[in-house]
Amino acid sequence: MERTLSLVSTQVGFRTLTLALEAVRWNSNGPALILVAPEVEHRVRGGIATVLGAVQAAMRGNTWIIPAFTSRTMVYPRVGPPDNGVVYLAMQAANARATFFHADLPADPEWGPFPEAVRRLPGTRRSEHPVLSFLAVGPQAEAAVAAQSILDPWGPIRWLHAEDGDVILIGADHTLNVAIHYVEALAGRKTFVRWALMDRRVVELPGFPGCRRGFGAAASLLEPATRRVHLSDWAVQGLPLERMVQILLDLLRRDPMALLCEDPLCLLCHAVRQHVLYGARPTGSAAALP
Ligand SMILES: [Zn+2]
Repeated sequence: MERTLSLVSTQVGFRTLTLALEAVRWNSNGPALILVAPEVEHRVRGGIATVLGAVQAAMRGNTWIIPAFTSRTMVYPRVGPPDNGVVYLAMQAANARATFFHADLPADPEWGPFPEAVRRLPGTRRSEHPVLSFLAVGPQAEAAVAAQSILDPWGPIRWLHAEDGDVILIGADHTLNVAIHYVEALAGRKTFVRWALMDRRVVELPGFPGCRRGFGAAASLLEPATRRVHLSDWAVQGLPLERMVQILLDLLRRDPMALLCEDPLCLLCHAVRQHVLYGARPTGSAAALP
């Protein structure tokens, strides 16, 4: 379902972006997950403030959520569970740079300036997962963030699914689409354990997701569920989360190694492949003791 808006300028303005966002929505009276590529601020007249204004205008009072993930809170033990997609000793230097999670902690640079702009909006709510927090704006913001817990990091996406929400990609491809992690969890894909600084202590984070770099491969399968508006050399896309879940759950059940990345050095994707091939290894080592 392709729609193209003709443009006189390579920079998009508020009205064009708002119309594009409205055109790609499926449930125009429902909530949405909004994913903004960092470079979009340079492609819109007025920068990130215009992007924020267009999102608010297009959502018309409905609730929307965004990831505001903060990996700088993460710390690593010297020894930890096996098959966990990490070389513990290699991560020790990261511990010295780690910081405690707090509600004002800016999101990682990979998310660009959008999370900071949203965080500063009056009334924005933030969930309290020290690494995988979400921001929520709108009348159901409290319910959206309350759906998350340390044990259920994808609670806000589960909430969006129950509310028949959309996933909106603004200049972004599916490598930013964190809703695919929710599908991985539904499919029972291997997860990891991580640790982060929060409330003056180290918190263990089960159910931690793997790598997103292979998620771009989902695009062709999701095409029938994608509305897209081209804006010069980038695009705004919208998908109904329910159809996205159906299509990708079916994919992961047929091919448990789908959507993993091609980097041979990726420890996370390697661990998922090993788990598919050989299952969980016993973690006890008593048999090896003298
Ligand atoms: Zn990977």
